[in-house]
Amino acid sequence: MPGFELFSDLERKEVNDVLENGVLMRYGFDAMRNGHYKAKALESELALTFKSNYVQLVSSGTAAVTVALASAGIGAGDEVIMPTFTFVASFEAIMMLGAIPVLVDIDDTLTLDPKAVEAAITDKTKAIMVVQMCGSMGDMDALRAVCNTHSLIFVEDACQAIGGTYKKKPLGSIADVGCFSFDFVKTITCGEGGAVVTNNQSYYHNADHYSDHGHDHVGNDRGAESHPFLGYNFRISELNAAVGLAQVKRLPEFIAIQKQNYTIIRDVLKTIPEVTFRRVPEGGEESYAFLNFFLPDTETAINVSNEFKASGIDVCWNYFENNWHYIRKWDHLKEAKSLYPLSDAIKSQLDTLSKTVFAQSDHWIGRNISCLIKLSWSEKEVQNRAEIMRNCIKKVCC
Ligand SMILES: *Cc1c(COP(=O)(O)O)cnc(C)c1O
Repeated sequence: MPGFELFSDLERKEVNDVLENGVLMRYGFDAMRNGHYKAKALESELALTFKSNYVQLVSSGTAAVTVALASAGIGAGDEVIMPTFTFVASFEAIMMLGAIPVLVDIDDTLTLDPKAVEAAITDKTKAIMVVQMCGSMGDMDALRAVCNTHSLIFVEDACQAIGGTYKKKPLGSIADVGCFSFDFVKTITCGEGGAVVTNNQSYYHNADHYSDHGHDHVGNDRGAESHPFLGYNFRISELNAAVGLAQVKRLPEFIAIQKQNYTIIRDVLKTIPEVTFRRVPEGGEESYAFLNFFLPDTETAINVSNEFKASGIDVCWNYFENNWHYIRKWDHLKEAKSLYPLSDAIKSQLDTLSKTVFAQSDHWIGRNISCLIKLSWSEKEVQNRAEIMRNCIKKVCC
């Protein structure tokens, strides 16, 4: 996955353009720029790549989720349904706005189970946030239908699935508003950066203003701009955007390499009867950033994971005991450990969360192993890796 593995002269050239004119900020300073607007250029490229009318770059993927929710008018007291398996950014962004995270089970897609979503809807529910984990996706038609039935906003976090598609549409472009991260380990990277993607013009205007202190960006005198509403600083810098501008043009090359490496490993593992693969909804194509498979039970998966480590197979994880991605170890969330006071509504929801058992999520995450697919592996290295993985699984299972 990480685009940094293949840094080249293309990235260096874009960054040098910025260093040569010295304008590190995306807004203003027009006379000094020599025509270089890297953030703007990257937004145009991303709009083409993600087949969407509007793109707003921001400082991170976490910022993108925050800005997306704020732009759709989600805030204090609103419930946002999110999955038990995701990155901590999901609840961080929701709670930053005073909204209430409502966690629900995932299914064998490793993303939101539409039935669990439906069961969690209350009169306070404002949005459903699907997180396209580990290069694949939720059942987007089923989730869209739930949103339509209950008049909810559909938010799509595609940070880990850059380049994947559902019924020919790029992941991140399907819901009402999509979020991307270009942090250092994502498929394309800016070092730090993120994007809000939408076809909704008013969400876009809100995102544009909100991510820059509420500036309306009318005219060419920043000091004279008005503030139609309150905002914050979630801006990306020109240096970061420059790196992304080189990387986004290489996305088709990166996806092709991921697919090749993924396929080699999958073809070897599929010969093992104990191995099954994560379900990709009909009409979906993964980004191939990860290969996810299931073993018969949690104990086997943990043993295989340990066997991988002992045999030098890195970048493969069982997320059952993981701090970053799964509800079981989010004690800071469940215990509401906040530096500043939280609303009673959030505290009450987190108290409920700490007492909830997610047996269905445990079933899938416990048995899962998720392997990152690297861009820098040679074909021989991937083949060798696949053989070692097969031997490890055979040793544990049989
Ligand atoms: C990486 C990631 C984010 C946050 O991105 P940052 O740019 O690191 O803030 C959000 N959601 C998911 C699913 C991610 O993988």
